[in-house]
Amino acid sequence: MPLLVMKFGGTSVATLDRIRRAAKRVGREVAAGYDVIVIVSAMSGETNKLVGYVEETSQLYDAREYDAVVSSGEQVTAGLMALTLQEMSVPARSWQGWQVPLRTTGAHAAARIEEIATENINTKFGEGMRVAVVAGFQGIGPDGRVTTLGRGGSDTTAVAFAAAFKAERCDIYTDVDGVYTTDPRITDKARKLDRIAFEEMLELASLGAKVLQTRSVELAMRYNVRLRVLSSFEEQSDEAGTLICAEEDIVESKAVNGVAASRDEAKMTLISVADRPGIAAAIFVPLSEAGVNVDMIIQNISEEGRTDMTFSCPVAQVKRAEKALNDAKEAGDLNFRQVVADTEVAKISVVGIGMRSQSGVAAKMFQTLRDEGINIKVIATSEIKISVLVDRKYTELAVQALHDAFELEKA
Ligand code: ASP
Ligand code: MG
Repeated sequence: MPLLVMKFGGTSVATLDRIRRAAKRVGREVAAGYDVIVIVSAMSGETNKLVGYVEETSQLYDAREYDAVVSSGEQVTAGLMALTLQEMSVPARSWQGWQVPLRTTGAHAAARIEEIATENINTKFGEGMRVAVVAGFQGIGPDGRVTTLGRGGSDTTAVAFAAAFKAERCDIYTDVDGVYTTDPRITDKARKLDRIAFEEMLELASLGAKVLQTRSVELAMRYNVRLRVLSSFEEQSDEAGTLICAEEDIVESKAVNGVAASRDEAKMTLISVADRPGIAAAIFVPLSEAGVNVDMIIQNISEEGRTDMTFSCPVAQVKRAEKALNDAKEAGDLNFRQVVADTEVAKISVVGIGMRSQSGVAAKMFQTLRDEGINIKVIATSEIKISVLVDRKYTELAVQALHDAFELEKA
């Protein structure tokens, strides 16, 4: 039988009533002839509550016990969903990660999926089960203990199941009705996209469009899983939501398909660094060892053997970055005069696969920001993306102006 993966996020299973609504959708697909693997999140707010319990109990908590606690939210919704389906006379069974088993690395609280065994579930499908309800976000590590995949991980569970079971599609039911050209809270001109390429979604997901966990999109791209994001609160037609698919499935693409904003950025500048071979390594190796996620990097021209080096990183990592750099200086590995942090910046990016074949996108972006009087502090580009750092207070203005300039409200 053809197989679908349907994933329901926290808001879609927040109450028994909503679980019933979700189960009805599943029932319709079963009636249409599909076997279904349902992946569930915990009821909304539940994981936050559980994380809170752990943090209140133990500051430097043991990650194995963190996983034991926070994985429980999904266990509850999986069982409830299976019961609800049974009440509707749909043959359903729940599965926790270890029962599948879904094997992961041993990195507790941030595990990666290594393997999904299909045998147990397929045997049950063969015996007449029509729906396997799987607890998202969790698996079993090499130590035989429960692991979790990092916040938002049930999206990744869903895509991994779709790949392992060769599902026809992976539908992600959430509280938004699709992927938008930009955050609809910033401009009401934001438009829902019917289709978006994996690569664009990857850029938008990692740039702060918080619809899907980034890793789920990476996986979908790697295994070519057709991924659909849609709302569980609206009646759906077959064309509902946004299809995230391969570039070949998108006929004609505009130069820019989305504008993303990320507010929690910081810009750090090392002033007067001695410029010599190995200087970039001397700066960025200690930063990487300290777990700082460096994004954009600029090295200025040097004068009299000294240069300035600027980079961006999440604002929450500024203290850690400063410490790593000052430690390297004290150890004599690095020589600079001063490190200056600007913690009031935002990163604004325009994204589109059409950029590959159309020129003038950067020029248009810079002109647009100029016309609004917004100063650009750092620029970085890739094949399908241009990002700038600007003062954070201009976030909305920059997004609105770029959304207008690239005519994103028009299909
Ligand atoms: N319940 C987990 C979380 O809130 C996993 C998920 O919902 O994706 O992060
Ligand atoms: Mg989520």
